[in-house]
Amino acid sequence: MSAVRLTILGAGTLLPDRVRHSAAHHVAAGKVSLLLDCGAGTLHALDGTFGPRLDSLTHVAITHFHTDHWGDLESLFFAWRHSPGGGRSAPLTLLGPEGLRERLEALAAAHGDFVLDPGFPLDVVELAHGARWAEGSLTLSAHRTEHTPESLAFRVEVDGVSVGYTGDTGPCEGLGAFFARVEALVSECAVPDPPPVDNHLSPAGVAALAGEARPRVLVTTHAFPALPADEVPALVREAGYTGDVLAGVDGLALELEPGAWRPAPVD
Ligand SMILES: [Zn+2]
Ligand SMILES: [Zn+2]
Repeated sequence: MSAVRLTILGAGTLLPDRVRHSAAHHVAAGKVSLLLDCGAGTLHALDGTFGPRLDSLTHVAITHFHTDHWGDLESLFFAWRHSPGGGRSAPLTLLGPEGLRERLEALAAAHGDFVLDPGFPLDVVELAHGARWAEGSLTLSAHRTEHTPESLAFRVEVDGVSVGYTGDTGPCEGLGAFFARVEALVSECAVPDPPPVDNHLSPAGVAALAGEARPRVLVTTHAFPALPADEVPALVREAGYTGDVLAGVDGLALELEPGAWRPAPVD
């Protein structure tokens, strides 16, 4: 069985940044091509430069309804609908918090019917806090986060490998256990210590979360300018975390096997 590949497509925030676009991450395993969030920049990050391509996606999962996490969704649908040569025909599953379908109807009213009637079979799945959804080799579990009423964290399990993704969250009861022993944990680390807000994580908060979850590798993302993104791993270590930790940047790709990770070879 070939390795599961995790690619960071958008390691940034809601602010413009040339090397860290808004939130987007990709998990590839066999026929599964799963996009986690699709903030600004995602459409263009799916041109194949970093591996994943727009026409390869089989699943899109959205953590919450902040624009930096799903603002490119209608652009993906527009491109699927109007690609030269006839557009997409393969089915797609779109997963997200409760209220997703209602939001899609509003997007269709603003942008056009192609959002809900894209010309290919579209399965819309709403996930409650604590939901567990499975299809074939892929399982997606959802845990509430301390961010917005609907916000979710995801645990993806495929081909014997687990990937955790916090979406956006502050310190959250139960989240460390939810991510227990994942091969890779993609965690937001948005603000410096001491944290000025309680709905985002600081390096100390990430160290506590990862210390409980004990991933094989931790990837930090979503740092606002007061917290230089490349310095986050050192700060997480200073806060007491001793495991492998990398600063997320667009294009960072890892190969994951049960119990192990390595940098993905450059294609
Ligand atoms: Zn948010
Ligand atoms: Zn965000």
